[in-house]
Amino acid sequence: MAERISEILQKKLSDRLGFYEDLGIRLFYRDRGAGVAPAVECQLETPEVSHLSTIDFQEEKTLPKPLGKPALQKIAPVVAPVSPKAASLPVAAGPSLFEAVEKIANDTLLKVREDLGECTRCKLHSTRHKIVFGDGNPKAELVFVGEGPGADEDAQGLPFVGRAGKLLMQMIEAMGLQRKDVYICNVVKCRPPENRQPEEDEVNTCSPFLLRQIDVIAPKVIVCLGAVAAKTLLQTHRGISQFRGEWLEFRGRKLLATYHPAYLLRNPAAKSEVWKDLQKVMSVLGLEVKKGRSA
Ligand code: URA
Repeated sequence: MAERISEILQKKLSDRLGFYEDLGIRLFYRDRGAGVAPAVECQLETPEVSHLSTIDFQEEKTLPKPLGKPALQKIAPVVAPVSPKAASLPVAAGPSLFEAVEKIANDTLLKVREDLGECTRCKLHSTRHKIVFGDGNPKAELVFVGEGPGADEDAQGLPFVGRAGKLLMQMIEAMGLQRKDVYICNVVKCRPPENRQPEEDEVNTCSPFLLRQIDVIAPKVIVCLGAVAAKTLLQTHRGISQFRGEWLEFRGRKLLATYHPAYLLRNPAAKSEVWKDLQKVMSVLGLEVKKGRSA
C-alpha cells in the first residue's frame, strides 16, 4: 500500500509542481499500479525543455534532505557540451576593464571580505544595515551574480533570502543542486535605498570585490541574474535580451546571463526561458537533465 504523505511533504510537492507548471511544464498523473511508487509526469510544451519530463516521486522525497548528495554530482553530459571555445563577447568593443585587471596571487574569500571591511567607500553604506558579501560553496563550479541586496538580505546579511531568493532556490533545486553547492553574490554588497538600481559610482566602487570573489572561486560557469550583473561583468550598455541565454566569456570563464528572479516574479511567463538557460548550464556542468518520455 502506498505510504501516506506527510503534510510537509505534500506542501513541498505542491510548491515544486507549481514551480514546474510556471516553467511551462504541464503535469498529469501516471497510473498508480500496485507496488509502483506514484510518479508525476511532466508533459512538455516545448521541445527545448523536453529533457526534464519525469519528476520521480521518490526523488522528490529525498530532495529536501540537506545531506547525502555530493556537491555538483557529475555524470556524462546528456547533450553535446557547448564549444570549449566560448563565443567571444559580442557586446563589448574591446577588452573590458575587468579583462585587464590582474588576478591577485594567493587571494582568498577571507582576504576579500577583510579588505571590504566595514565599507564606507560609497554612499550605500549610510543606509545599509548589513553588508551582504556572498554565500555558498567557496569552491563552487557555479556562481550566481545578482544585482544588490533587498530589504530581507540587508536585514540578514545573506544574498537572495527574500521572495526572489525563494524563486532562485527553486531554480537551483530544479537543477538538482542545493544552495550549499553554488555560490551566490551580488554586484553591490549594500542595499540601495528603496531597492533602486545601484548607480554607476556604486557599481564601480564595489565591483572589484566581486571580481576578486569570482577569481578566487574560479567557477566553471557564472550566471548573471539580470541586466545589472550582466552589464557590469560584460561592461556593456546593451539590453540583456540581446544576449540572454548565450554563452559568453568572462576572464576565460563561461558566462551566461538570464533574467533576474525578481523579473520572473513579475513576469512568470519568462520562467520557461530561464529554465532553458539553466539547462544549458546543467549541460556544461555535466548535471543530469532528465530525459523526456517520447510522446
Ligand atoms: N536581488 C538581488 O539582486 N540580490 C539579492 O541578494 C536579493 C535580491
